Amino acid sequence: MTAMAATENGKKLRYAVIGAGMAGILAGIRLKERGETDFVIFEKGDGLGGTWRDNHYPGLTCDVPAHAYTYSFAPNPEWSAFYATGPEIRGYFNGVAEQYGVVPHIRYNSEVVGCVYDDATHQWEVTIVDGSKHVVDVVIAASGVLHHPKYPDIAGLDSFEGTCLHSARWDDSVETAGKRVGVIGCGSTGIQIVTALSGHSERVVHFQRSPQWIMPVPYFEYSDEDRQAFRDDVQKIDDIRYGDDYWSGIRRFTKAVTDVDGPEMKEIEAVVLRNLEDSIRDPELREKLRPNYRAACKRLIYSWSYYDAVQHPSVFVETGGIERVEPNGVRMKDGSFHELDILVLATGFHADRFIRPATVTGRAGASLDDAWSRRPTAYLAVSIPGFPNFFMLNGPTGPVGNFSLIDIAERQWGYVDQLIDQLRSGTHRAVEPSQAAMDDYEARRIDAAKRTIFGSGCTSWYLDAEGVPASWPWSYEAFSEAMDAPKLEDYLLHA
Ligand code: NAP
Repeated sequence: MTAMAATENGKKLRYAVIGAGMAGILAGIRLKERGETDFVIFEKGDGLGGTWRDNHYPGLTCDVPAHAYTYSFAPNPEWSAFYATGPEIRGYFNGVAEQYGVVPHIRYNSEVVGCVYDDATHQWEVTIVDGSKHVVDVVIAASGVLHHPKYPDIAGLDSFEGTCLHSARWDDSVETAGKRVGVIGCGSTGIQIVTALSGHSERVVHFQRSPQWIMPVPYFEYSDEDRQAFRDDVQKIDDIRYGDDYWSGIRRFTKAVTDVDGPEMKEIEAVVLRNLEDSIRDPELREKLRPNYRAACKRLIYSWSYYDAVQHPSVFVETGGIERVEPNGVRMKDGSFHELDILVLATGFHADRFIRPATVTGRAGASLDDAWSRRPTAYLAVSIPGFPNFFMLNGPTGPVGNFSLIDIAERQWGYVDQLIDQLRSGTHRAVEPSQAAMDDYEARRIDAAKRTIFGSGCTSWYLDAEGVPASWPWSYEAFSEAMDAPKLEDYLLHA
């Protein structure tokens, strides 16, 4: 792909980027690289970083190796450890946005509430929560996936008289040391919180409706010498980011996910089973922690310390059903009671929202809510028929799993940028995928998705309302190839 400045291309365009998280900052940087300066990044919060701004619970870590969870163009020799903490990652995004001159383009506290396409001008009118309206040629929806916290429907939750907080709405002033803490949920978040609180709180009760398989992974901190070596020679960073260790792992993982009875999946199953059998000493606890579904059906938990943490004498695992929350604790269905000072809801997110609740009205009055009434979807996870010049980063049906979403967003941007070239050339004023291309993609995707491990019989945020995995169901290589260049025959180009 040639990195020609927009001015050399012809038509100057105006852009609205929605969200100043990882993908929105990326879009801003890439636009600037193309010589585009007429863009605003609308951010609903009062800071950048998206999920890394919203989440600041104890133990927050990214379980993708830090040097791989980094923009390709902004390697960071300063990571403290193989897996970076939330605050470090937030600092990284703040630093990169500043360094690349994106910050002046961000408008904070500016939630987008509506986008309306004008069929005559081929422009979008973007409405902000304060009522202001902005007319642009292109909308880049980089609003993230997991940003609407899901509160559990448990009787009596409101009656709790201690501190109750969702993991994504953590209150840093809450003191957990010496307290009795209950954590509901054992996704990546609940596992990290319990690991962090183990041995620090007086008592931790981990409520697990569906225990998880745990993939053991190495963890180590980088020494000053390591960081100096990364500073001196970027190749050492590239060896991790692009090295065989990382990428052969990604390839094996996607092979396993898509070939559920193949040797790669058998290997994953053997490793997580051995981890459970070898790590948990008490047979009763081991049985409590044994999942009744296949490994990687839910997002696989990568942890180097949960099984140690959960065996600390102050940590208790509760796998019975919750009857109700009472003012001073949690009552189980068997009548037993856990008295608690703090109740943490690590109960996940509404993963089907994307840009919504903003209303999006496309060509000929098409409504995004209608287009997504069955399930949120997009052609190759990027664009939607009837919504010209509207592109998504980390949108529905993109790859999910234990990968770097930064890598995914960068590849998607490479693809979107080539579609925008159609507009920059001045020959076309709008581009959208054809309904036929969308229908063909979606039929093939759904068929393949049902056969992935995500569809093998468990609940998870990967599933849509009909129980179909809402993900890219093919290999990572197939995704990467699809993102190399758009097939223009799959698009409608409006003059
Ligand atoms: P999640 O994976 O959706 O897990 C939610 C947990 O809450 C599940 O254990 C679920 O049980 C439980 N739960 C929900 N409603 C409940 C109820 N009414 N009663 C009892 N239990 C209930 O959410 P998450 O842990 O926040 O993670 C979401 C995603 O964020 C992850 O999959 C990952 O993609 C991302 N994440 C990544 C990292 C990282 O290190 N890269 C860290 C944190 C999060 P069931 O399974 O039975 O439904």
